[in-house]
Amino acid sequence: MPPTVAVVGGGISGLAACYHLLRAPRPPKVVLLEASGRFGGWLQSTRTPEGAVFEHGPRGVRPAGPAGAETLRMVSELGLAGDILAVPRDHPAARNRFLYLGGALHPLPSGLRPVLRAVPPFPRALLWSALRDLLTPRGTGPDESAHAFARRRFGPEVAELAVDSLCRGVFAGDSRALSVRSCFPALFQAERQRGSVLLGLALPHGVAAGDSEAGPPAGLAGRARAERWSQWSLRGGMESLARALVAFVSPRGAELRCHSPLTHLGRHRGRWQGFGHLVPSSEDPALLGVVYDSVAFPEHDGTPATPGTPSLRLTVMLGGAWFRQSFGDPALVAPELLLRRARAAVSDHLGLAGTPARAIVRVQQDCIPQYTLGHWERLERIQRFLKEQELPLSLIGASYSGVSVNDCIASAKAAAARILGSLPEP
Ligand SMILES: Cc1cc2nc3c(=O)[nH]c(=O)nc-3n(C[C@H](O)[C@H](O)[C@H](O)COP(=O)(O)OP(=O)(O)OC[C@H]3O[C@@H](n4cnc5c(N)ncnc54)[C@H](O)[C@@H]3O)c2cc1C
Repeated sequence: MPPTVAVVGGGISGLAACYHLLRAPRPPKVVLLEASGRFGGWLQSTRTPEGAVFEHGPRGVRPAGPAGAETLRMVSELGLAGDILAVPRDHPAARNRFLYLGGALHPLPSGLRPVLRAVPPFPRALLWSALRDLLTPRGTGPDESAHAFARRRFGPEVAELAVDSLCRGVFAGDSRALSVRSCFPALFQAERQRGSVLLGLALPHGVAAGDSEAGPPAGLAGRARAERWSQWSLRGGMESLARALVAFVSPRGAELRCHSPLTHLGRHRGRWQGFGHLVPSSEDPALLGVVYDSVAFPEHDGTPATPGTPSLRLTVMLGGAWFRQSFGDPALVAPELLLRRARAAVSDHLGLAGTPARAIVRVQQDCIPQYTLGHWERLERIQRFLKEQELPLSLIGASYSGVSVNDCIASAKAAAARILGSLPEP
């Protein structure tokens, strides 16, 4: 009898863990326990009768880096290569991002001009922020909020406009509460290693174990590099990745159980013209930003509601860490209130009035873990506890070390490798 590995949670992390466990030469028996009635977790795509695809979770995955390449390798093995919708780096959705401030949209700085001259919404040339980073001594504390870190290294404008908005866009969170060490490890390490974020990012740094032997990426990842993809999605929406994983693991003997919440653990002796725009919290705490879904993935637009008039899909991100103060209890909030707010934003920011042909309101409660100050320390404590208690338990998923789909899949793969290495011979 092969040993049994239980995977808890059928989101992308759990499904990817099942996939990697079952690809082993001598796979264990895998049982997946999912609390809800479906697999995929936050990978949620709605296809309307017109064939439009609305994403309620991730809408695009970055192909860069070892984790991006690993995800693409999995996508290819799942037979989804033909369904990839890639956004090249010279596409407007990759090149242009905006900030909405003072009642107007401002392109985020790129190129040399904003470095040398003040370009709104930044009151000073970014050269001053760069100089400040080069001259400020490195920090000494074990962790710091993303806001404090950006303010110390680059000055108040970058902290309050750029980093505040970025945290709202990526984590739906408050840059004053989120940990720079856990949310932006590359920036934290750059400062630690070189005494300057800009120098640390520009100069070569230590190669992670295992990376040194990796040659140029092959297959889909090689295509992504050659064609300079900035992000990708799938023709059927991101949820089709979850469906493909279910289709891969089911016939390989995985036992997939829905409506099966894990309630306790017992010890067993033995084993637009752009991507979208973000809104800083000083402008409007309730409104995180707007994603111009149709620009990156027009293939998801479906048949126009009015023949001859192109459809436009937008996602208005509301609430995040400010949900309760803005809208009250998320379990009780009236969807009409959120829809009114979203329509007002689309009208005020983008000048799009009128009734949308279709609107879907989804409250994604507690959907992105908030790595607040001291997150790294809590992780270390948990890992120490697991080790001391010799618990046969691996922790994967967005709650620990990275919320992106790539991070989740990479942590699932690493855990699967550790489990496979520790299993007794059948
Ligand atoms: C709105 C939104 C937009 C995003 N956009 C992007 C993006 O564009 N690009 C990107 O890379 N990332 C994005 N992310 C982040 C990424 O999608 C998530 O971090 C990732 O999908 C989380 O996957 P997971 O499997 O770790 O967790 P989840 O998706 O939360 O899955 C966990 C699963 O475990 C189940 N479960 C919970 N408790 C139990 C229990 N006790 N017993 C059994 N089952 C249980 C849940 O029902 C769920 O199905 C976005 C996230 C959200 C919410």
